[in-house]
Amino acid sequence: RAKREGRGRVRCFESEMDQELRDRRLLQHDLRQALEQNQLLVYFQPQARVDGEVIGFEALLRWNHPVRGFVPPDQFIPLAEENGLIVQIGEWILREACREAASWPRPLQVAVNLSPVQFQAGDLERSIHQILLETGLAPTRLEVEITEGVLIGDFTRALNLLRRLKALGIRIAMDDFGTGYSSLSYLQSFPFDKIKIDHSFISNLEATPQSAEIVRAVLGLAHALNIPVIAEGVETEAQRTFLAREACEEMQGYLVGRPDLIERYLDLVGVTVERRLYA
Ligand code: C2E
Ligand code: MG
Ligand code: MG
Ligand code: MG
Repeated sequence: RAKREGRGRVRCFESEMDQELRDRRLLQHDLRQALEQNQLLVYFQPQARVDGEVIGFEALLRWNHPVRGFVPPDQFIPLAEENGLIVQIGEWILREACREAASWPRPLQVAVNLSPVQFQAGDLERSIHQILLETGLAPTRLEVEITEGVLIGDFTRALNLLRRLKALGIRIAMDDFGTGYSSLSYLQSFPFDKIKIDHSFISNLEATPQSAEIVRAVLGLAHALNIPVIAEGVETEAQRTFLAREACEEMQGYLVGRPDLIERYLDLVGVTVERRLYA
């Protein structure tokens, strides 16, 4: 009897996996049309100095699925990476973000996330160069965020590409710092322009004393290497005060502002509503 029950359970588990797989395929199929049918949006989240002065925005992808509504990037980006669609999508958000930033009266910076797949496939340097020319955005206003996934795999190729991007004048930020396996070793292989401390350390600041020590240690290390730090996921004034006391340069999180359509932040970029409406 136990055996039969066990088998039943296995079958049930299998069909659940089938269903999950089918669902992924469906989403992947829909994703191919998402670009053409204007279902992808760019949200912008402000980045500020710890004193509150906004210095730029991070562009974040959103997918407004016609039936499912908003699908989180953590769910659809892996799918786009799997079938290579991320190359096209990545170029699209880069172009949108650069075009948007180029239209701001204030010369704020714009940060865009790059997928490891974009480093492996296609000609990333060429397409970024092209987009900068096309939009007229000064390269010094563009920052690209990479995770250690970019440096896993073809390390030499990724490193060369990063060097060439940097030579264009673009800044390179290391995203989600502290969550990977060898963040530290990557600091000695490439001169990153910024370190983004992962939000998990910030959200645990009050609850676990270890997090405070880790944040202090990362700041000490980064400053010894002359690399400015931005803290991700800053939600409370207490977190901001801690970061300011520890000489963290910048912050990003709900305390400053949530990711949203740029329309919500027009005052920050220096656009008046009239100018936007009648432009
Ligand atoms: P990320 O680059 O580390 O982006 C930060 C994430 O933290 C964003 O999630 C943002 O909405 C969220 N966040 C910001 N402030 C707070 C806060 O105060 N509290 C909390 N709890 N969360 C906060 P999002 O937009 O869901 O994006 C998730 C991840 O998806 C990003 O992590 C990035 O790895 C990836 N992603 C988003 N857009 C793109 C893109 O255009 N290209 C690529 N390759 N990846 C992207
Ligand atoms: Mg990021
Ligand atoms: Mg991050
Ligand atoms: Mg992340």
